Amino acid sequence: MASFESTGPDSAAPERLDRFMARAVAAYYATRPDPFGAQGDFTTASEIAQAFGECLGLWAAVTWQAMGAPDPLILAELGPGRGTLMADALRAVGRAMPAFRAALRVHLVEVSPALRQVQARALPGSGAIWHDDLATLPPGPAIVLANEFLDALPIRQFVRRGAGWTERFVASGAFVERPAEDPPPLPAEAPEGAVQEVSEAARALAQGLAARLATQGGAALFLDYGPADPGFGDSLQAMRAQGSADPLAAPGRVDLTAHVDFAAIAAAGRAGGAAAHGPLPQGLFLQRLGLMSRAAILARSAAAAGRRDHAGLILSGAERLVAAEGMGRLFKALCLCHPALPPPAGFEPESP
Ligand code: SAH
Repeated sequence: MASFESTGPDSAAPERLDRFMARAVAAYYATRPDPFGAQGDFTTASEIAQAFGECLGLWAAVTWQAMGAPDPLILAELGPGRGTLMADALRAVGRAMPAFRAALRVHLVEVSPALRQVQARALPGSGAIWHDDLATLPPGPAIVLANEFLDALPIRQFVRRGAGWTERFVASGAFVERPAEDPPPLPAEAPEGAVQEVSEAARALAQGLAARLATQGGAALFLDYGPADPGFGDSLQAMRAQGSADPLAAPGRVDLTAHVDFAAIAAAGRAGGAAAHGPLPQGLFLQRLGLMSRAAILARSAAAAGRRDHAGLILSGAERLVAAEGMGRLFKALCLCHPALPPPAGFEPESP
């Protein structure tokens, strides 16, 4: 298995932050078969509430209808983790919209061999096909789901010094600043010491995917955490055993993420030819999809089956996803789609 150390440069020379992060994330997911859940390092909406994957499955079904119900349709997920979201989505659409279930073909983009096995166990009989990246997805109309995927993609960090910018590198577990290497466009004005983050990987992915959706049809839904508007700040964070850790100290052994720059992702999507809807606060988006009503139904049937504790957990889990002080405000939903599609479910403009 690819450890962090085995993929590194030979010398102890400082390594650019995005290269360090790419190696650290790849090593982390390759060597941790199950980082999720209460026993793991972190948890996600998919693991917190069954209604989350169900609502996203129904969102995909409604979007498919708006596309003219193409058959076959590629239903792809980026970074499926344990496969829970897709399993909940497939079960929900199998019941509510069997024609969609019959038309869809499941494709999963996952780098970690260990997580591919976990996903295969979660999705028996789904016919899922795995990919290293989007490039090998078959052509055709597609609906793409990605929850907490973009936050794992590598970022660069630039620091304002005088009238210019330096770039952060990592050496012996600490940041060092060096002259910026071939930097992307950066703001002309910034306070001294301000940190500007740029994820070239996330922008390239959004633009490439948008170009595909604009020519072949479809929509991509990204749910992740980050501000709606661009701003300065260092958002690199590490999680271990549900707590925060030093992002540079134990590469490959902690979950490393950064806030998603939704304005940049939307702009990259438009540059690729797609329409961008959102970002919306996740709480608002999920409430519009009926997450709380679905959770109430699940809780009632758990209570009727004598599982009162479980019913309480279903309701508190769903509440956590929509509450502003939980994941409802920091997390956002953004959709990139074919420009001829109407605003997808949940993204309709407010009626006056
Ligand atoms: N979507 C899941 C888990 C998100 S964790 C959920 O909702 O629970 C991030 C996921 O992205 C993991 O499955 C990880 O292995 C995968 N991943 C990280 N970097 C990736 C990359 N560059 N390409 C493909 N998958 C990646």
